[in-house]
Amino acid sequence: MSALAWGVGSATAVVCFALVMAWRRSLETNAARAERASRPAALRNAELVYMERLFRISTPVGLVAKLDRAYRMPSGLLVLVEFKTRWSNQPFLSDVIQLSAQRMAVMGQTGQSVASYGYVMVKAPTRRALPIPHLVKLMTDEQVVALVRRREDFLAGQVLPRWPLSRKTCLTCAFRAQCDYPHL
Ligand code: SF4
Repeated sequence: MSALAWGVGSATAVVCFALVMAWRRSLETNAARAERASRPAALRNAELVYMERLFRISTPVGLVAKLDRAYRMPSGLLVLVEFKTRWSNQPFLSDVIQLSAQRMAVMGQTGQSVASYGYVMVKAPTRRALPIPHLVKLMTDEQVVALVRRREDFLAGQVLPRWPLSRKTCLTCAFRAQCDYPHL
């Protein structure tokens, strides 16, 4: 290979490398911009610290919880965010239970403080829809432990499930589509 051909080849490789790097940087920038745009306004100054991460504890009950996102506020407090795609633009009790279990698992595994509130971001299942934030108060650790123990009792057949006292409960239930309860 002549020196000229070698030089042209090297220059082409350098240009390609620079283009790939610029493309990757632009992808990263777009992803970061999309992530910022999808946050609740109250977390504008927070730092994204966990995304799609699994946490687990074995005491006082065994829990494995995968969180969507956790943000660290300037105060150091972590705030959990859960994303849902559905037509009904409201948080469900099941969302609150999920976030509360995540909170307990993160605090138990890492020792960090997690806010007693979180956000459920509900997005309609259309391409242009934006996630709408819903601030929710989370359950206490004691309430989560009681729920886990109750579930264990159900599974062991020691407690029989009951229908809800009010049919209003069913209006915001995430399991309604699979439920046998006569809703009419
Ligand atoms: S829809 Fe079914 S599972 Fe949900 S609260 Fe009503 S009875 Fe319970």
